Amino acid sequence: MSTPEAALERVHARITQACHRAGRPRDSVRLLAVSKTRDVAEIRALHRLGQTAFGENYVQELIDKHDALEAPPEPAGIEWHFIGPLQSNKTRAVAERAAWVHTLEREKIARRLSEQRPEHLGPLQVCIQVNVSGEPQKAGVEPDALPALADAIAALPHLHLRGLMTLPAAETDPERQRIPFARLRELRDDLCRRGHELDTLSMGMSGDLEAAILEGASLVRIGTDLFGPRPA
Ligand SMILES: *Cc1c(COP(=O)(O)O)cnc(C)c1O
Repeated sequence: MSTPEAALERVHARITQACHRAGRPRDSVRLLAVSKTRDVAEIRALHRLGQTAFGENYVQELIDKHDALEAPPEPAGIEWHFIGPLQSNKTRAVAERAAWVHTLEREKIARRLSEQRPEHLGPLQVCIQVNVSGEPQKAGVEPDALPALADAIAALPHLHLRGLMTLPAAETDPERQRIPFARLRELRDDLCRRGHELDTLSMGMSGDLEAAILEGASLVRIGTDLFGPRPA
């Protein structure tokens, strides 16, 4: 594996090139470093290179790494994103540590996060996860149920609904990769027509970030290409 510097540079170059191809400004796409299974030293190394946003999939990993890195007297000041499945008995730990949650799919979880969000942290930034590929076992709300869920979440006082997220079925063909991302963008545009102000499309990973950026991603979630392959 190459150095963290080289990996970060390569990912930034891919994002820059994809933005160029899409005719989009480079600063319209943010990089979220997905640090699941990675240790505190690896996060610290990327953070020192200027990477500010990190995403975790498992609540216990979020707790352990957040509490190690944000402890006084010198808290790192990382922007922590939660991007994994969230059960109702784990919402408090996330509400107290994350700046963002990308994986909302149930009103009950949203209500708990809003109730448990500490006032001094300001509103929790959230995305609704949508099942755009229609696989029954996949996480995310069905497109039909999206408008009602968006209305319910937007009404909660300590959440700020920012947009939509998806994790499509694996696909290697670059043209076919675009289909679910285009669908997510259409669903976002539809919610905007219904009066929501949504600036975020959380879509694209190591294998498909170009397709996602061509379809309007505002945030790409990259693990493997920053940290190397995850241990099985
Ligand atoms: C693991 C994961 C990623 C990163 O995937 P890579 O292919 O390693 O870049 C992005 N989003 C979610 C929700 C993930 O679980």
